[in-house]
Amino acid sequence: MIIVLLGPPGAGKGTQGERLVARLGVPKVATGDVLRAAVKAGTRLGLEAKGFMDRGDLVPDRVILGIMKETLSSPETAKGVILDGVVRTEAQAEGLAGMLKEINRPLDAVLVFTIADDVLIARLSARTTCDHCQTPFMDMAPGTTCPKCGGHLVRRKDDEPDAIRRRLEVYTAQTEPVIHWFRDHGAKVVSVDAVGTMDEVEARALAALGR
Ligand code: ADP
Ligand code: ZN
Repeated sequence: MIIVLLGPPGAGKGTQGERLVARLGVPKVATGDVLRAAVKAGTRLGLEAKGFMDRGDLVPDRVILGIMKETLSSPETAKGVILDGVVRTEAQAEGLAGMLKEINRPLDAVLVFTIADDVLIARLSARTTCDHCQTPFMDMAPGTTCPKCGGHLVRRKDDEPDAIRRRLEVYTAQTEPVIHWFRDHGAKVVSVDAVGTMDEVEARALAALGR
């Protein structure tokens, strides 16, 4: 089962992705997490990605296509995978479609989380994120200890106002067209209203998947 999660930053893809992992029994891969881990570890990938990420820009397609390829060829994703934020440009959508064709696996669904910009800006500006397990929190100050893993809660650089604005612009300009690309190429694209409690949104996501 291969599911693509699309939606603007702050729409709750990560949270809902985790819930789908629990429900569907397949792992999740989030390119944002992979890249942040690489930045933290100081690898070449991380050094290349850091500037783009801090500004709120997309890292080059080539980098993402590499992560995608690795993900799909890993034994962990043999039963399926939830791709969270992995596809953000038409070139990446095309790349994914090509890779899936090559390994003869279908794309089961594209879930598009929809939400208004002002709600997103409010959410992202209030958010802190664990620098270890990456869990986001809405009501905890930077510097607090992560209740899940004991890590350190930080304000992500790209959750500063300028970068938030940039990420929303990038989403509209580069990622929204991906929704149409998938529709035009016969994928099952379903919108999920991302405003509501986490449980409500989860129920909508499951319904969208026919569960
Ligand atoms: P969000 O979706 O909330 O902006 P993520 O944690 O998913 O945050 O991603 C953080 C950053 O990682 C993005 O702003 C971008 O710089 C980079 N990134 C992640 N996925 C991709 C992708 N598919 N293509 C290009 N850049 C990406
Ligand atoms: Zn943590």
